[in-house]
Amino acid sequence: MAKDESYLIKPLLDRNYPCVSYGKGAALYDMDGKRYLDACSGAVTASIGHGVDEVVQAMYEQARKVSFVYRSQFTNEPAERLAMKLAEQLPGQLNHSFFVNSGSEATETAIKISIQYWQERGRPEKTLILSRWMSYHGITQGALSLSGHYERRQRFEGMLDRLPFLSPPYPYRQVREMSGVDYAEELDHLIEQIGPHRIAAFIAEPIVGAAGTALVPGEWYYEALKQVLDQHDILFICDEVMTGMGRTGKDLAIEHWDATPDIVTLGKGLSAGYAPLAATVVADHVLEPIQAGSNLIMSGHTFSANPLSCAAGLAVLHYVKKHDLVKRAATIGEKLIEDLQEIQTASAIVGDVRGKGLLIGLEFVKNKATKAPFPKDAQVAAVIVNEAQRQGLLLYPSAAGLKGEGAGCLIAPPFTLTKEERCELLGKLARTLERVEKQLLGAEK
Ligand code: PMP
Repeated sequence: MAKDESYLIKPLLDRNYPCVSYGKGAALYDMDGKRYLDACSGAVTASIGHGVDEVVQAMYEQARKVSFVYRSQFTNEPAERLAMKLAEQLPGQLNHSFFVNSGSEATETAIKISIQYWQERGRPEKTLILSRWMSYHGITQGALSLSGHYERRQRFEGMLDRLPFLSPPYPYRQVREMSGVDYAEELDHLIEQIGPHRIAAFIAEPIVGAAGTALVPGEWYYEALKQVLDQHDILFICDEVMTGMGRTGKDLAIEHWDATPDIVTLGKGLSAGYAPLAATVVADHVLEPIQAGSNLIMSGHTFSANPLSCAAGLAVLHYVKKHDLVKRAATIGEKLIEDLQEIQTASAIVGDVRGKGLLIGLEFVKNKATKAPFPKDAQVAAVIVNEAQRQGLLLYPSAAGLKGEGAGCLIAPPFTLTKEERCELLGKLARTLERVEKQLLGAEK
């Protein structure tokens, strides 16, 4: 749509975005009929693909009954049932869901619940939340304060709480090899410096998405961190907004390790994009003191526990189970990583391929031997993602580098991706890289 005909504020104000017409399965079609293979599920969201009839039907039936009720006046069946299903499915005692509309809101709720938990336990001075560099927990003020994402913080640094950040688990660019024990020592040291009596919780994405291009910590990493957190009475909030609901080949990505969080946030794949929906899920032992104390969660939104969104979430959960899609994400993810490693070998600028299940990252570098990144103003991620879109392939640009100086993209297709679609993805990606390499490196020769 031409920019001078539009009154809608879009991410880049001077760009003409194609207008979507409809989506079916792993593909989206614009108004001119052009097909785009959705290799990143939008923003790692459309995990069961577009236009699934069962979900649309469930939403239609719910909308005919009631689309909105206010949560302090009514509870509703879809929200109750979805909370019960999550309690059955999630590990440990993660049995209580608070539904919101976005991942950022889920982070804000997790922050508030963990502070409230310590208040009810008679320790109101525990209010700080620790987090890591190369992390993203949301765009709202509390969530952005915890996010170690240079570019998204930069303009708002003045209004953010400056809290200390921990090192990210980033094997590709580690100066020296670091084990889980090394990271745990760093955490322990930081906690001692600040004072454990001031710290309410530690938040981390089990596998780092947008801020790190699918960083997978090594074995024992979370076990070691959890031990330190337990020693100091600090809650573990696991941000599974991007990684949860099967994306990495398990219901929660933290299940790749043996460390159970006290609070989990979910979003994106929870409704697979059919309606805005996210959740903060808390363990029994976190809710109990609040129930026994003030008996009130001091957080919430007009659209919290929205019946229509929860009906979509329930239908998505049902669809994932019926088609055994979590297992499918694990198996096709493994194959896709192997194929992408072949592309890496052939490419002059793909420095690293990493990830788990169907959350896969490619980090781009100017020189594969030295791992030197492209200069920031080359806007490599944007150049690649835009060229891919021209080729009819959707990729998600992501940050890389310890100071956000690098660039990458996420490949995170719907779990329903077929073999033909996998070939289409690889073909279009190879063509995109070939063109961009000529443009980026050719210019220097
Ligand atoms: N946490 C993580 C790990 C995310 O990836 C995101 C979104 N990219 C968020 C939180 C924020 O979610 P939302 O954009 O729905 O507010």
